[in-house]
Amino acid sequence: MKFSEMFFYTLRETPGEAEIPSHRLMLRAGLIRRLASGMYTYLPLGFRTLKKVETIVREEMDRAGAQEVLMPVLQPVELWQESGRLDIYLAENILFRTKDRQSREYALGPTHEEVVTDLARSRINSYRDMPFTLYQIQTKFRDEIRPRFGLMRGREFLMKDAYSFDLDLDGLNVSYKKMYDAYTRIFQRCGLKFRAVEADSGAIGGDASHEFMVLAETGEDIVVSCDKCDYAANLERAQIGGEIKDIEPDAQLLPMEDVDTPSQRTIEEISAFLKTPKEKILKTLIYSADGNPVAALVRGDHQINEIKLRRELKAEVLELADDATIERVTGAPTGFAGPQSMKEKIFTVMDRGAADMVNMVAGGNKADVHTINVNRGRDFDVNMMADIRNAIDGDACPRCDGTLRYFRGIEVGHVFKLGQKYSKAMNVSYTDTDGVEVLVQMGCYGIGVGRTVAAAIEQSHDDNGIIWPPALAPYIVNVIPVSASDGEQSAAALEAYDALNAAGIETILDDRDERP
Ligand code: ATP
Ligand code: MG
Repeated sequence: MKFSEMFFYTLRETPGEAEIPSHRLMLRAGLIRRLASGMYTYLPLGFRTLKKVETIVREEMDRAGAQEVLMPVLQPVELWQESGRLDIYLAENILFRTKDRQSREYALGPTHEEVVTDLARSRINSYRDMPFTLYQIQTKFRDEIRPRFGLMRGREFLMKDAYSFDLDLDGLNVSYKKMYDAYTRIFQRCGLKFRAVEADSGAIGGDASHEFMVLAETGEDIVVSCDKCDYAANLERAQIGGEIKDIEPDAQLLPMEDVDTPSQRTIEEISAFLKTPKEKILKTLIYSADGNPVAALVRGDHQINEIKLRRELKAEVLELADDATIERVTGAPTGFAGPQSMKEKIFTVMDRGAADMVNMVAGGNKADVHTINVNRGRDFDVNMMADIRNAIDGDACPRCDGTLRYFRGIEVGHVFKLGQKYSKAMNVSYTDTDGVEVLVQMGCYGIGVGRTVAAAIEQSHDDNGIIWPPALAPYIVNVIPVSASDGEQSAAALEAYDALNAAGIETILDDRDERP
C-alpha cells in the first residue's frame, strides 16, 4: 500500500472523548473512528491490527482442537427465558432488543451460551458425542452503563468466545486446561505482559475461573499479586495469609461506656467526631444470608468483601439486611450496630484482621449512640473468625511468606468452568455406558479481540505514539523517501518497497510529498 492511495489521516488535536492513552492514540493515528457512544469503525490501519489479533487467536484455538463456527447475532428471546438469564439481563438493562414483523422478540447477542447450548443438544445423545469445543469470532452487543475508553468498553465489540462440552468433571478440567494454555500462548504471541488471575466463579468455587489481565495503570480492575510466588487473584477473590493475631495477653481492657454521636453513622463521621483513628473503630454490618440475619465485623479502615463472606457462610444469596431487619436485630436504626448488647443474638463473623483489636469503638445499638472500649471475649463473642475483607497492598500472601501487591489490570480474557448450569436449565444430557442420563459439563472462554488491541497500546506507548509489539503492527516496514519529488529517490524507495513486499514483509510506502 502507498500512503498516497490509502484512506488514512491523523489528528493533530486529541478528541475530547479520549480519556486514556490507547483511546487517544488510536483516534489520533487514524486507526478507529467513533460513530456513536461505544461504537467504532475500524479504519484500514486499525483493521489490519485487529485481524492480526484474530489470526493469532484463530491459530491457537485451532491448535488446541477447538472448531470454529459462526452463530447468529440475533437470538430468539425464548432461549434466554429457557436458560433463566433473561430476568438478570433485563434487570441490568444490558440487552439490546428488537422485534420482527410478527412481533417475535429477539436480542442482539451479548454472549452465546444459550445459542451454543441449543446447538449442542441437537447433537448430543450418547457419551460418544463428546468431548468437543466450539468457538467463534463474532460481534457482541451490550448496552453497557458506561461505554468508554474506545475499544476497551464498547457497546458493540468483537469477541472470541469458545464453549466446551464434556462428559464429566475430569473431561471439563482437561478442556479448561487446553483453553488456559491456548490463552497463555495467545497473549504471549501478542507481546503482552499479563497475569492469569484467579477470579470469582460463583457457585462452582475452586479453581473454576481465571481472568487474563494485561498489566496497565489505566486498567479498570485491581489485581492482587504476590511479590514472591505466582499467586495472583482479582480483588474479589484474593485471600490473605499470615497468622491470626490475638489480643495481647497484657492488654488493658478499659470499662465500656456509651457516648452520644448524633447522626454520626459512617466510619468517617465517627472517626472525625470522636477524633479516633479508623483502625480503632469496629465496623458492624448486618447481612441477610439466605434470609437469616448475620453480623459481619471488620476493622474500620478495612473493606468487607461480600464474595468472600458469602463463601465463608456457604450462603446462596447474601445481601445487606433491610432497615426493618437491622432495627429489629440491633434495636437501633441503621448506622448504630455493634456486636455487644444487640437485641437479638445472631450469628457473628469477625474478620481475622480485627482479632487483636482492643478497646474498640462500636455502634451502641441505640439511635445516635456509640459505645467505646468494647472488647471481644469480655463484651461479646464471635461464632466465626474468617478472612472476609479485601486484601490491601502489603498484606501477607496466602501461599508463601511473600507480600501481596496491588496492580491495575485490563481483563482481556476469561476462562470459566460453567459446570452443569446451562445443561441443567436447557436440558442437555447424554446416556452413559450404564444407560443412565447424565447432564453435560460445560466451560466458556472469552477474549475481547478489540480490547486486546487497546490493551497492547495501553501497555506500550510513549509521548510520540504507539510502540507496537511486532506481531500486532499494521505494517512492519515503512519506506520513506526523504524527498518524494526527487525522481531518483522515489524510484529507489519504490524498488525497496517492491522488494520487501515480494519477500513477504508487510511494507508501506510513504510517497506523499511531505517533509520527512
Ligand atoms: P467486564 O468485567 O470487563 O465487563 P465481562 O466479565 O463482562 O467483562 P465476559 O462476559 O467474560 O466479560 O466477556 C469476555 C471478554 O470480552 C472479556 O474478558 C473482555 O475482554 C471482553 N469484553 C467484555 N465486555 C466488553 C466490552 N464492553 N467492550 C469490549 N470488550 C469487552
Ligand atoms: Mg461486563
